[in-house]
Amino acid sequence: MCLGGKTVCATLLSHRQNHFYLSLFTSYNNIMPQYPLNLYDLSQPQLEQLLAGWGFGRTHADQLWRGLYREHITHLSELTELRPALREKLTAEARLVHLTPRLTQHSSDGYTHKFLLNLADGQAIETVIMRFEARRELPEQTRRYTACISTQAGCAMGCVFCATGQMGFTRHLTAGEIVGQVLFVQRYLAERGASLRNIVLMGMGEPLHNYENTMQAIETMTDHKGLAIAPRHITLSTVGLPHAIRRMADEGRRVNLAVSLHGATDAQRQALVPPAKKWPLADLLAACRYYTAALRRRIFFEWALIEGENDTAEQAHELGRLLQDQTAHINLIPLNPTAGYAGQPSQPERVRAFQAILAQYGLPSTVRQRRGIDIDAGCGQLANKVVSGEWLVVSE
Ligand code: SF4
Repeated sequence: MCLGGKTVCATLLSHRQNHFYLSLFTSYNNIMPQYPLNLYDLSQPQLEQLLAGWGFGRTHADQLWRGLYREHITHLSELTELRPALREKLTAEARLVHLTPRLTQHSSDGYTHKFLLNLADGQAIETVIMRFEARRELPEQTRRYTACISTQAGCAMGCVFCATGQMGFTRHLTAGEIVGQVLFVQRYLAERGASLRNIVLMGMGEPLHNYENTMQAIETMTDHKGLAIAPRHITLSTVGLPHAIRRMADEGRRVNLAVSLHGATDAQRQALVPPAKKWPLADLLAACRYYTAALRRRIFFEWALIEGENDTAEQAHELGRLLQDQTAHINLIPLNPTAGYAGQPSQPERVRAFQAILAQYGLPSTVRQRRGIDIDAGCGQLANKVVSGEWLVVSE
């Protein structure tokens, strides 16, 4: 009787555990449920919850978290301080997914490195490493490296000048796939005696369209027991989803926020950025004011300068008037031409004149250097060429 009773209890417990795991898994793994659990997809509380369900306490979760993000393990067998029973359970139930390059390109000036990284389901995303240091002779350790990472495979926003927009949307990235790009860059730079300083979420995809996974990835990046990257070194670039900007403010998300404008009237903006039809400038700028007031942070506004399209003196005045009451800094970026859009970058004298007019309105601005033109470093350009067969795909 007693043994039978225990058997029943064990079966019931096992059923409950399965139900518990299922509900936990579906909370983060709903993008690719057919694949085994990737530990990088878990937030720290989810990792604790998972291990607690297996009967292992918080100390074990801390050891595992440290192994993933401090010790940069590449295989679960490296976690020698973990109890063998937990290591075995992890090996049976989970995996560590490390992103690997399908294609790599290096710019001729040596400042930009672009990677097309493989995802588990055969999709590929772009990650770019940029070096911001004028003097090549400086030692490697003193150079500042920035990683430009993706948040989606493709993008649903459809900005006309953007190669990713021209590809369309495939799917959201999981939190683990977003963090995985940072881990890839850190490993790549560490092997060369260098380190990562800044992260910009400015690669393929609209980060605020994939809000939950992007924010979870940022929490993992900034966790002081993990990667410990300061929020001021992270910039999230968005086409401007007002409800999501307000949500960032309400949740106290203190990363840098960059909003792509490209047009100072609804009509101009809608011609370049289709989501502007759904979210007019008045709503967007009200959300920006809300964000600035709540977090006391200025916003970076981005303006891709396109010859004859949005680089006239009149448009500079319109932009000046539009942003006069914002705590703002404007980044002027001469367009990176793409195959699917006929626009060309503005000439340097046009750029200088545009910037001078903004200064009349007391608006600070910076002309951003274009990087990696010879390696298709604009977002989506490399993936687009691979998809269209223009590039031969090689594995490294
Ligand atoms: S510019 Fe950004 S938001 Fe617009 S289509 Fe490209 S990736 Fe998407």
